[in-house]
Amino acid sequence: MIPRARPNYRFKDLLKAAPKSRDPGPASAEVAERLRDILGLPYVLLTPSGRGALYILLKATPGAEVLIPSYTCSAVAEAALLAGKQPIFAEHGSLSYNQSVDDLAPHLQDGRTYIATHQYGFGAPIEAMTDACRSAGVTVYEDIAAAFGTRVNGRLAGTFGAACFGSFDTTKLVNAPLKGGFLATADPDLFRRAQNVAQGELRTMSVMRKMALIGAAFVLVGLRNPLLYKAFHTLNFAWRGRATAESGELRTTPSEVYLDKFADWQAQVVLPQLDGFEDTIRRRRANYQLLRSRLQHLRKVALPPEDAGSEWAPIRFPVLCDDDKMNYYERGVGKGMDFGFSFTKIAAPTAHVSAHTIAAGVLNLPFDAALTPMEIETMINVLTELEAT
Ligand SMILES: *Cc1c(COP(=O)(O)O)cnc(C)c1O
Repeated sequence: MIPRARPNYRFKDLLKAAPKSRDPGPASAEVAERLRDILGLPYVLLTPSGRGALYILLKATPGAEVLIPSYTCSAVAEAALLAGKQPIFAEHGSLSYNQSVDDLAPHLQDGRTYIATHQYGFGAPIEAMTDACRSAGVTVYEDIAAAFGTRVNGRLAGTFGAACFGSFDTTKLVNAPLKGGFLATADPDLFRRAQNVAQGELRTMSVMRKMALIGAAFVLVGLRNPLLYKAFHTLNFAWRGRATAESGELRTTPSEVYLDKFADWQAQVVLPQLDGFEDTIRRRRANYQLLRSRLQHLRKVALPPEDAGSEWAPIRFPVLCDDDKMNYYERGVGKGMDFGFSFTKIAAPTAHVSAHTIAAGVLNLPFDAALTPMEIETMINVLTELEAT
């Protein structure tokens, strides 16, 4: 079975990382340096997750209200609530993963912060967004959890707003066991405030936590084997009568993925991936374009948007089912292809019909950096067969 996601590290990376410290150290200093370099932003703070980075950023931000796209990761609203902010959801005017400037217009009020999101690595209309926000006195933080390496009109996503945050979750471009993240900014005052928040709240991860994370990472690497993956899928999903572990429930207290410092051993897993950063992006971009061009005949699902400028770093290939998504999923699984479900559970009010229609219809094709040409052919065949029935 083609897995829904495979990590971008191997056993040897984990073996090399395992002896390293639970505290920040030389590897984490180097990761931060490389991120400063890539993003061209002078201040970078490594965090235990993308949501953890947003939590710190928002705690360091004045103003009570945070404007959030209605269709996005539910962890964004969770982080805002945990940071003591009031989330305000901006509905999408169409069934588009990214928002348009018009979607923001009704909500632009002085003192708010907008989380501008480049969903799944697809470049958002960020220039128009920052212009509209600037005129209204709204601060823009860019969510590049899914869009590290994406460019918009030649400029890197994350460099348009007052700050950005990224993620090293297993489903993103760069993977740390089992999560990690960063915030970055050119604003020294904001950075100092964020550092103070981090200093006051973050602690070293426990020995138990490190062992559990390394153990889970070994399992994830092991699951690259198709037979083991098939067994895992049956145990974890089919027999348990569920298709995703995503619950959509928002936590009311910050967990380890908010409060554990990003460790040196985790940074050691990330480092080699930063060497291969441009390569990974090129491969993913080419696969994205290939899948899009070879799947134009599909009628049961809608394809994701075109990367017209060849400048995105896509981490998902979502399709939108117009009828029974679970039926489509199960028939795909029967033919040897798994799907991911993010984001099926969203935090926006149910009255936000566009966002909920996207969430109800979305399925992610397997789309990791390890995808082989043969797997791509298999996926195209499976999806073509699903049209016929
Ligand atoms: C993954 C993701 C997040 C959260 O990142 P974590 O590292 O899982 O906390 C936030 N926003 C978007 C758009 C994401 O894709």
